[in-house]
Amino acid sequence: MGEQPSAKRKKAAKGSTVKPVKAAAKAKAKSATKTAAKAATAAKPTAKPTAKPAAKPESHLAMVRRARRINRELAEVYPYAHPELDFRNPFELLVATVLSAQTTDLRVNQTTPAVFAKYPTPEDMAAAVPEELEEAIRPTGFFRAKAKSLIGLSTALRDRFDGEVPGRLEDLVSLPGVGRKTANVVLGNAFGVPGLTVDTHFGRLVRRWKWTEQEDPEKVEAEIAAIFPKTEWTMLSHRVIFHGRRICHSRKPACGACPIAHLCPSYGEGETDPEKARKLLKYEMGGYPGQRLSPPADYPGKPAPARIE
Ligand code: SF4
Repeated sequence: MGEQPSAKRKKAAKGSTVKPVKAAAKAKAKSATKTAAKAATAAKPTAKPTAKPAAKPESHLAMVRRARRINRELAEVYPYAHPELDFRNPFELLVATVLSAQTTDLRVNQTTPAVFAKYPTPEDMAAAVPEELEEAIRPTGFFRAKAKSLIGLSTALRDRFDGEVPGRLEDLVSLPGVGRKTANVVLGNAFGVPGLTVDTHFGRLVRRWKWTEQEDPEKVEAEIAAIFPKTEWTMLSHRVIFHGRRICHSRKPACGACPIAHLCPSYGEGETDPEKARKLLKYEMGGYPGQRLSPPADYPGKPAPARIE
C-alpha cells in the first residue's frame, strides 16, 4: 500500500494496455463498481517473473520481506477483500462458517436466508427437529453431520454462554464442531479480534510462496503469525483466500495472469501463457468482486450473480 512500483513493474506495465496493480490502487479511490472492474483486469501479469531460482537459498529475513511485500501488493489488487459469507451477527457467521465446509460461499449464501429466518437464535436452533434442519441445509452438502454440529453448538451456546456467541478463541473452540479455523473467522469478522484463517486456499498459497513448509493448519498459523503483525492477520487471510479462489487455484494456477508472479517462487506451477491463463480466472471476470448476496451497506462492490458457478 502506497509503495512505488519497482522499475521492473513499471517496465512491464509500459508495454501493457492495462496497468494492473496501479489500476487496482487507483480503484481504491473510485467507486465500488469501478474497483471491481479494475480488479478484473488487474489479473494481468505485472512483471516478468524471475526466470531461474536464486542460486543462494533465501534467508529468513528476505523471505519475511518478500512475504510482507506480497501482502502489500495483494492489498492493491484486492482492496475490497472481505468475508464472502452473508451474516448479520456472530451467530449467523458461526452457522454460515460451519455450513461452508466442502462447498462454496455462494451456495451457503443461497441457503442461509431460509435457515436464519427459521432459526434466528441459538435457542431456536438447539430446539430444531433434526430432519427439518437437515432439509433446510441440504444444498450445502454433508447436511446430516452439519445439522448435528449446528444443534450441538447451539445447545452449548444456550446452556453455557447464555445464548451468546463468545468472543474468545478458547471458548469458541470448546463448542462442538468448531475448530480454530471457524473460530478465527468469527473472531476476525464478527468481533474485530485479529485471526488467521488457515483454510485450504491459505495453506496451499503460503506453501507455494515458501512462507512455511508446514502442512498442519495449526503449525501453519503459528509460523505465519510470526511473519506479520497482528493487525494484518484478518485482512491478510481475506487477501490470500481471494487470490487462491480467483487466480492461484489448486490444480491450475493462472501464473501467466498473476499480478504477484514476480514475487512467487512457484511461478510456472500453473499456466504461464497470458492468454490461456486469463481464461482460468474466476469471479472477477464478470466484474463481481465476491459471492455475497445480501451485502452490508458499505459493501465494496456488486453482489455476485444469483447462480452457482
Ligand atoms: S503459483 Fe502462479 S498463480 Fe500462484 S501465486 Fe505463484 S505465480 Fe501466482
